[in-house]
Amino acid sequence: MNLLPFEKLPAHAPRRFVPAQIDLGEWAQIAPLFDQLDARAPQCRTVADFERWILDQGELAAALDQENSQRHIAMTCHTESPEAEQAFLHFVEKIEPELKPRQFNLAKLYLAHPLRAQLDQRRYEVFDRDTALRVELFREENIPLETEESKLGQQYQKLSGSLTVNFRGEEKTLVQMGRYLEEPDRALREEAWTLVAERRLQEADKFEENFEALLKVREQIARNTGFPNYLAYAFRAKGRFDYTPEDCLKFHSAVETEIMPVVRHLQTERKRLLGVETLRPWDTAVDPLNRAPLRPFAEVGEMVARTQRVFDKLDAELAGGFAQMRDLKLLDLANRKGKAPGGYQSTLAEARLPFIFMNAVGVQRDVETMLHEAGHAFHTLAAKGEDLYAYRSAPIEFCEVASMAMELLGNQHLEEFYAPAEANRARKTHLEGIIGFFPWMATVDAFQHWIYTHPGHTRAERTAAWLALMNRFGGDVSWAGHESARANLWHRQLHIFLHPFYYVEYGIAQLGALQVWANSHRDAAKALRDYQAGLALGGSRPLPELFTAAGCRFDFSAETVRPLVALARSELGKLN
Ligand SMILES: [Zn+2]
Repeated sequence: MNLLPFEKLPAHAPRRFVPAQIDLGEWAQIAPLFDQLDARAPQCRTVADFERWILDQGELAAALDQENSQRHIAMTCHTESPEAEQAFLHFVEKIEPELKPRQFNLAKLYLAHPLRAQLDQRRYEVFDRDTALRVELFREENIPLETEESKLGQQYQKLSGSLTVNFRGEEKTLVQMGRYLEEPDRALREEAWTLVAERRLQEADKFEENFEALLKVREQIARNTGFPNYLAYAFRAKGRFDYTPEDCLKFHSAVETEIMPVVRHLQTERKRLLGVETLRPWDTAVDPLNRAPLRPFAEVGEMVARTQRVFDKLDAELAGGFAQMRDLKLLDLANRKGKAPGGYQSTLAEARLPFIFMNAVGVQRDVETMLHEAGHAFHTLAAKGEDLYAYRSAPIEFCEVASMAMELLGNQHLEEFYAPAEANRARKTHLEGIIGFFPWMATVDAFQHWIYTHPGHTRAERTAAWLALMNRFGGDVSWAGHESARANLWHRQLHIFLHPFYYVEYGIAQLGALQVWANSHRDAAKALRDYQAGLALGGSRPLPELFTAAGCRFDFSAETVRPLVALARSELGKLN
């Protein structure tokens, strides 16, 4: 039974190495291909042989990647199907653990190969650097620690996911409680917010203990790898070749000096519109004018048609890409029973085609998600011509430029969904969301810089460090009577527990996206050409070059932030 929304996809190119008929869910069929690659390495006599060997590894990796993606897509489209779940788990449990050591061995064979030095340096610069990094950081003794780390991460997820409250006689998850923060009735918002905050506080010790266990494991991983602390290890392990911890600290300062004044200004305006004396934590998500939610479309077919028209207006190539996805059924967008929550773009690595999954229900957030995931999809399509598998995807700092810039560019044509005043309201909410994200990003990132450079700190010292950051980046919101909730607010940020240091990437990417948007105000056609040129590079060049190709500076100091904030501010002024 085909549980995928799409039929068999057109091949980008016929396979050369992987047999046309092979079951990629059977390790016994896959292992001989790795044996062949191992045996071929010493037989490579010329650079051409060696490059063929690298491409064949990529062909196998892409076929396996696509197999994994398809199983993931089938499962998320049919959560009620035991068959789909089994197929996905089989791949995760039986195939992936076998793959890792084999792929690692290929990396070692590559690094030790005498022909490596003769490869075109510019062409293989990034590939070579990334492969060397994987081998450099590998430590046998870290494997059980990494298992321990992911178990602790699961405990965190289990704990946060299990929390419910009894709200007016009904049991609700904390996610479900989120919608009450958009209710016009202030007393209701306060009641809902307080209930959630108190529920989290009941588990505060468990969150702290879980985090301390993670901290211990991470410090050991860093020591085993020869780093002075986990911060130094994480920057290296994340392949942050092009920016340093100091650059991140500079970014935090730029948020403080350039963005916080705008945040405070927006908070003052919100206070005035809401007609309240002080802004409280439950006042930040509601529409300040108490208007009914925007309704951009009634059904998903309408959303697709209107999104298509947005891209028609932007650029013929992008429009063609989106139309192709629609025709090949690479879009599964409507919310329905039996679908996993959320939205994502997945790449079908062998066909070199994107797939978009989401749960649209007819709110403005759906339009933002659609444009965002379409940006990722355009990235996949733009890099299609790249034959080296490793270069068909870029680092996250640039992937999110592709998606976030598309939100901003697409928003210029929101009249496809709305009357002009409503379109402006949607743009305003979006821009305010971007401005408001930076301080939280800086708080989360700066907190982790502090944590991992203060070994042996106490719980009280950690809380004090968090509160200092809340003072720096929290703006003018009064937490009076809820001081403990404020001191423990970081417990709800999953990344701190599960993906240490993975957060600043979104801030870096947003700066890139805002630059593409700023460029489009000067010369829309050129901005789009540059954007596509950046996307077309895939991951073949270092980050700063990807940014440059897309018409952006790779820099997160106040000098870069200032004009972008000025533009956002002046645009916001026009949207009232
Ligand atoms: Zn994204």
